[in-house]
Amino acid sequence: AADPRPRPSSVPDIVPEVLPDVEVAGERLTGEELAGAAERVAAAVAGAPVVAIEARPSTVTVAAVLGCLRAGVPFVPLPPDAGRRERAHLIADAGARLLVGTDGTVAPLPAPVDTTDPHRLHTDGAAPLDPDVALLLYTSGTTGLPKGVPVTRAAVVACLDGLAEAWAWGPADTLVHGLPLFHVHGLVLGVLGALRTGSRLVHTGRPTPAGYAAAAEAGGTLFFGVPTVWGRVAADAAAAAALSRARLLVSGSAGLPRPVAEALAATTGRAPVERYGMTETLITVATRHDDASGPGWVGHPIAGVETRVVETDGRPVPAGEIGRLEVRGTTVFRGYHGRPDTGDVFTADGWFRTGDAAAVDATGRHRILGRAEQDLISSGGYRIGAGEIEAALLAHPAVAETAVVGEPDADLGQRVVAYVVRDGSTAADEPDRVLAERLIGWVVEELSVHKRPREVRFVAALPRNAMGKLQKSLLG
Ligand code: ATP
Ligand code: MG
Repeated sequence: AADPRPRPSSVPDIVPEVLPDVEVAGERLTGEELAGAAERVAAAVAGAPVVAIEARPSTVTVAAVLGCLRAGVPFVPLPPDAGRRERAHLIADAGARLLVGTDGTVAPLPAPVDTTDPHRLHTDGAAPLDPDVALLLYTSGTTGLPKGVPVTRAAVVACLDGLAEAWAWGPADTLVHGLPLFHVHGLVLGVLGALRTGSRLVHTGRPTPAGYAAAAEAGGTLFFGVPTVWGRVAADAAAAAALSRARLLVSGSAGLPRPVAEALAATTGRAPVERYGMTETLITVATRHDDASGPGWVGHPIAGVETRVVETDGRPVPAGEIGRLEVRGTTVFRGYHGRPDTGDVFTADGWFRTGDAAAVDATGRHRILGRAEQDLISSGGYRIGAGEIEAALLAHPAVAETAVVGEPDADLGQRVVAYVVRDGSTAADEPDRVLAERLIGWVVEELSVHKRPREVRFVAALPRNAMGKLQKSLLG
């Protein structure tokens, strides 16, 4: 079929002609079958401004994604569990006019109408996209409403080639994961990464220990997961034994708690590597496959990406100290979709303010310490990283999970407050008040007196979204 939107020759193709076999939620397609299914989608969507795809984990979704890429039509993946209002917002915001359904059929969508929907951020969802844009992804909405990010082919190619190099990822691999197909992790890395590197893809439908174990027994080599998934795998003896055959376990989307990393390494014999990124920047920093840096460390910038760590006022922090991470380079977006007032997310000299707190050691290794606004606590003249206190608390046997926040305090500016989920098997009968005192004393011994929580609040669970991201704004 003739390509109605010829791309400038400088725009790279993400996916090569020859495709690996894929298996998604138990359905298999050979590379040739996948190419055929994608060709049918490409013909049906040709010429559309933007296409929405029902992003259920299925081979149909993989073919739809590939079909849109082949047709040069930008697409927006719709979360399968999105409610009516959220779907309507995504479709209108993206300016989608066609929908690829769960059975692969392509149907028209009504033109976006102006509404009083409070989620609606602008009125012109159909603003034309740069011809290099491959897809529109929405941020996870952890800190506010999800924001639309036009992701270019050049950015995807730079990100995937950087990761392929860091992880020695190629056609000899079988990539295994069970992540949602509407974020960077599951879709860009987890689908496009497999297609670009030529590694067979096994998507387990859902990210269960049993699914990962079966895929490991069937020869899976490279496994992706979010920290909650790795916690479940580490706790499942059969899955952990099966994953001892894997070549590489990779964690991302949220920080990997040290106890989870240690449990996983102990039960599988494989130390997981972490990588860091955002919807806006794709993956920018990654631990190499042969680097044993440990949890919290996310490695070095991939090729084409630069980073710097600065104070609130933009001055660089001394090496090794905590500050705000800024990035620039090929993988970084140029502005949110439909928001010309992208505002102060970029510095005057073109760096993107990630909003994350980080430190870089003398060898250039990056450590992520959380989100600058909520995880950098200023208390009694000290700057304290919530992540450091969380790591110390997690090392205590009575703590299963924890989230540390700064709360306004008349005297200190901010006071350190720790939310704690008790470990069911340890100190179950100990009154909250007594355990709280013990935990505060523990932080004093492990870290220092000014880092101690002024209060410990016990909760049954921490608020997390489907990607395992902690939603600290919901605490309190
Ligand atoms: P929103 O921007 O809508 O509030 P979000 O920031 O969670 O949501 P994403 O783009 O999906 O949306 O996630 C990017 C964020 O995930 C990063 O800014 C960072 O805080 C976190 N993150 C990703 N990888 C890691 C990692 N390895 N360690 C710690 N945090 C990570
Ligand atoms: Mg964000």
